[in-house]
Amino acid sequence: MTSAAPAPQSSAMPPSQHPISSSTQSPQPATSDHSPVKPHRKPLLRLEIRDLTSPGARSFLRLLHASSSIEDAVSSVLRLLYSGLPRHCIPPTRSVTLVIRSMGGVAYTTGSDIDGDHKEIHFSTDYISHVPEARQKEEMEGVIVHEMVHCWQHSNGAPGGLIEGIADWVRLKAGYAPPHWRRHADGQWDSGYERTGYFLEWLEKEHGEDVVRRINECLRQDGYDEEPFWEKCCGKSVSKLWEEYRASLGHADEHQRNDKADSGRQDSAEKNEAEHVETPETGESSTLGEPAEAGPDNELDADKHKDTRSARVKARRGGNMHVPVRPLPDI
Ligand SMILES: [Zn+2]
Repeated sequence: MTSAAPAPQSSAMPPSQHPISSSTQSPQPATSDHSPVKPHRKPLLRLEIRDLTSPGARSFLRLLHASSSIEDAVSSVLRLLYSGLPRHCIPPTRSVTLVIRSMGGVAYTTGSDIDGDHKEIHFSTDYISHVPEARQKEEMEGVIVHEMVHCWQHSNGAPGGLIEGIADWVRLKAGYAPPHWRRHADGQWDSGYERTGYFLEWLEKEHGEDVVRRINECLRQDGYDEEPFWEKCCGKSVSKLWEEYRASLGHADEHQRNDKADSGRQDSAEKNEAEHVETPETGESSTLGEPAEAGPDNELDADKHKDTRSARVKARRGGNMHVPVRPLPDI
């Protein structure tokens, strides 16, 4: 049967006729906590999908509204790092391109070859496709927020672990902490990722909710020189702060409890995530799957800090970090 094409239907009903829905377009309440922070120049946001037919790309397209997710990530990062600060404190990032492609690891962020103010976030479709479906949306949004931090934060000689910790702190504060994250106080304060992220969260309680903004701003103004840096930001040495944090968690007891609570779920998850990939740039082996570290990693850096995490936990981390990392200390 042939039939005429259906008459076009208007999707633009007058506002009064719109059904009440959970539309995300309603304006946010203008509370001081959530007022938008705007850079001097609105960044150009771009998306590149290298293989539309890959399972990871299909999940990305099915589950995320890409323009909203990327814009929301920018807003969260700017709000959490620059609320109350003058605009000139915000880096002059001109564009962010999210590249969805097949690669080892999870994700990384890099500046363009021509101009470091143009950022690229590379996000692995292989990783996306190995995340359990129920977690995919949140995990993708969390990774995008983490990577977006690298597009806007100041580094200026900071330890890689602090850079990664700030990125995971933003992810945590933006509401995308994965269920497997735990507070751990073993290892070093700058082991990075959620370990440092939760340390920063604790610092907020002890030294004011703007402490991470101050840390980021101190990096911009003065760069990183450990002793004066922490003295200026928190009034004492970072080793003392880490000691206090450890004490607040009950030292090793907390770690053991966490591990015990964690192990059953993680072990069963591991059965479903046996695939390992080789990360080309570092030769690191990483385990793909939801419990894997959501952000990019530089395991080499963490190892140099005598990271005491188990080999299994370390093996979860994958990907590459393309952000400035301090030269490794001579220890
Ligand atoms: Zn990162």
